[in-house]
Amino acid sequence: MKDFYDILGVGKDATLNDIKKAYRKLAIKYHPDKNPNNKKEAEKKFKEATEAYSVLSDKNKKREYDQYGNTSSYGDASSMNFDDIFNNLGDIFNDGFDSYTEFGFNSNKKNIKNRGTNLKVLIKVNLEDIYYGKEKTIKIKKMKLSPNIKFKTCDKCNGTGVITKITNTFIGRMQTTNTCNYCKGQGKIIYNIPNNANYDGLIEKIEYIKVQIPIGINDGEMLKIIKQGNDAPYGGRPGDLIIIFKVLPNKNFKRKKQNLYYRLYLSIPEAILGCKKELKTLTGKIKITINKGIQSEKKIILKNKGLPYRNGYNYGDLIVTTRVWIPKKINKDQKKFFIKNKNNKNFYYKL
Ligand SMILES: [Zn+2]
Repeated sequence: MKDFYDILGVGKDATLNDIKKAYRKLAIKYHPDKNPNNKKEAEKKFKEATEAYSVLSDKNKKREYDQYGNTSSYGDASSMNFDDIFNNLGDIFNDGFDSYTEFGFNSNKKNIKNRGTNLKVLIKVNLEDIYYGKEKTIKIKKMKLSPNIKFKTCDKCNGTGVITKITNTFIGRMQTTNTCNYCKGQGKIIYNIPNNANYDGLIEKIEYIKVQIPIGINDGEMLKIIKQGNDAPYGGRPGDLIIIFKVLPNKNFKRKKQNLYYRLYLSIPEAILGCKKELKTLTGKIKITINKGIQSEKKIILKNKGLPYRNGYNYGDLIVTTRVWIPKKINKDQKKFFIKNKNNKNFYYKL
């Protein structure tokens, strides 16, 4: 059995990047053009490396290979089609490989992707917004393709957006297809830029976009709205709109994940006698009963009265912590009462 890792000279833990790098190196080393005195052997090695690469660079094939060591289903390297090999090479060398031209391949450009830039917006939301998953309209400044722009067909690629070159070499017909760098693959170029547009034919526009705030979202979380970013020059794929949520603090509630914390102040009589208290929550008022003789820092847990989880079904809790408020000012009568009871054992700590 062939060991693809061995062939490429990488370890089993190699990343896709390592695998690509290793393959590039071997492809250069064994490219038949570079081995005029040893063509047959070089070609064989080149194909072997290509076979190994085609398996290890494919997630599914790699998994299968790692598990079962199966190589039979990928065919024999010697039967490989050269066009396929070189088309694959086109892809691999396109991402940042300068020596591509060493082979005399015709491509000297990376694949140019005509894509608009992403837009980032910060949205401030409060706890009510994230409780209900409210919809908000936001104003954004976007670069849009000017409607008055005029295009003409790209004469470098005749409107196809790609440039295909075919070279005949001793190992076969070699075809490379690359994105046309002149029109960035769009097949058309700007013929007339309106006065108010920039070099790429883009103008700044204000747009209002409705955003559904995700239920229960956390501070700093992001949401990507596909293709709502800046337009691409020549009308390619627009960038994305990235929304970052800033959850504003609430004066009554502190948030820890989906739980809400509330501090409930009680007067001395309330704490001693017990009472009913009304609490204003995010969803309305709720009544809670305070038993007589309650202490400070007593936690009352109101199940499912916190924030909804992202799934929208489960809820966190509302945790009420009591604190008995000691007044700083009291009147004469009250003072008398406390002086009278100074040594009353009922006021002292007792388990
Ligand atoms: Zn073109």
